[in-house]
Amino acid sequence: MKYYAKPLSKLISELSRLPGIGGKTAQRLAFHILSMDEKEALALAESITEAKKNMKYCSVCGNLTDTDPCMVCSDPARDRSVICVVETPRDVAAMERIKEYGGLYHVLHGAISPMEGIGPEDINLKQLIVRLQQEDVQEIILATNPNIEGEATAMYIARLVKPSGIKVSRIAHGVPVGGDLEYADEITLLKAMEGRREL
Ligand SMILES: [Zn+2]
Repeated sequence: MKYYAKPLSKLISELSRLPGIGGKTAQRLAFHILSMDEKEALALAESITEAKKNMKYCSVCGNLTDTDPCMVCSDPARDRSVICVVETPRDVAAMERIKEYGGLYHVLHGAISPMEGIGPEDINLKQLIVRLQQEDVQEIILATNPNIEGEATAMYIARLVKPSGIKVSRIAHGVPVGGDLEYADEITLLKAMEGRREL
């Protein structure tokens, strides 16, 4: 990118690091940003700084939040007897969009993957066990992704939790196999929740 002045080529190179942004898109975005009026461009930059500064992980459930505990964990109207276990904060957002689930969440921040050397100790699992011991939980719903890693993770947690007598269920496969929970449409996700089966 020698033909671009340094500040522009830096902007392009930073943008191209974002997921799903190739070189061409990065260039297009960079030129667009430079064509914006200064106020708009600064608001964009500030929103990145602000989000980065103020968003953290909830110390209870691991969800992304600006308060600790998060909005869900501190909401007295939520059903504290059910915990839905998901892989990422994006999955929490997908579940919240269907507006049917009123329980709590637990975000694993990943899934067990022997192929990639990710074991149970590398995901946010210990904290889940602590919660099950401290809180009066009657059911956990395993809503990890329907791929090899997600299934392995669900099986592992089911084996770990079942002896405690807590009901363990797995969402149905309305979510396309190999697909990501966060991309499932609302009806599919709702059906998957309704059709969950006990493990
Ligand atoms: Zn929380």
